[in-house]
Amino acid sequence: MFISKFKNLALAASLLSSAALMTLGSTAAMAAAPLAKTPAPGYFRLMLGTYEVTALSDGTVDLPMEKLLVEPEAKTTEALAKAFLKTPVETSVNAYLINTGSKLVLIDTGAGGLFGPTLGKLIANLKASGYQPEQIDDIFITHMHGDHVGGLATKGAINFPKATVHADQRESVYWLSAANMEKAPADKKGMYQGAMDSLNPYLAAKKVDLFKGSSELVPGVKSYSTYGHTEGHTVYVVESEGQKLLLIGDLIHVAAVQLDNPEVTIAFDTDQKEAAKMREKVFTEAAQQGALVGASHIQFPGLGHLKKSGKSYQWVPVNFTQMR
Ligand SMILES: [Zn+2]
Repeated sequence: MFISKFKNLALAASLLSSAALMTLGSTAAMAAAPLAKTPAPGYFRLMLGTYEVTALSDGTVDLPMEKLLVEPEAKTTEALAKAFLKTPVETSVNAYLINTGSKLVLIDTGAGGLFGPTLGKLIANLKASGYQPEQIDDIFITHMHGDHVGGLATKGAINFPKATVHADQRESVYWLSAANMEKAPADKKGMYQGAMDSLNPYLAAKKVDLFKGSSELVPGVKSYSTYGHTEGHTVYVVESEGQKLLLIGDLIHVAAVQLDNPEVTIAFDTDQKEAAKMREKVFTEAAQQGALVGASHIQFPGLGHLKKSGKSYQWVPVNFTQMR
């Protein structure tokens, strides 16, 4: 009895050790799985009343925020560290697709080919999300900076053949003016050129509608003038069944800094004072109304709610939903 038990134990021990050897041997012989290196999914979807909202990633771009924010570098670096970030900050570029049931509306178009290979992914992500560029009826532009209009056209060819492009007239007067480009410093001329290359094909095709100020543009989508970041910067307000979404464009660039301190502006703001004023105004309204917010440069999908505490704001990202 004792012997057989001992024998069994010995057998078990030898089996275990040979199993261990085999495991070691097979680990050494098998190659590790190669890193997938495929990008993260580039769209996210939720419902707003009866409307379907799809956040589309155009990609990300590394930006030296300690240099770009109008704030002492050390303060920016410190605020970023608190959010576990370093400069350059990998910054999201987001656009939003709204299916109202009667219209398919795109808010901004990403950078296209204007900002290098880490951006310009909007059309691929639009297709991955189940739509084709030729289905888009209307495109609303928050402002004519390259990371918002670059996706409109590729080398002079229209990317959205059916769409009418809408923007505040002030944006067009400012960015599509040869005289303004002429007057601009050398390092800013490219911004005008980028806007012209993106919008001109639609102007030639008579597919541009320039509106003046705040108004309802298609049922359920209104423009809301928030001039400051640029001459004609516009927020779009989407509303369905009492639910509201504010697509705020470039009212914020660096959540880790500008939520705590909304007075901090960025070098890209045409009018620093007005840009800060509009951020404060829209953030206060969004917080009071409990409106959903979609932000071009808050980390993808850039959808969440704002809460006010004193002079600061807190960003509460939306819950993940599978829309089942
Ligand atoms: Zn932007």
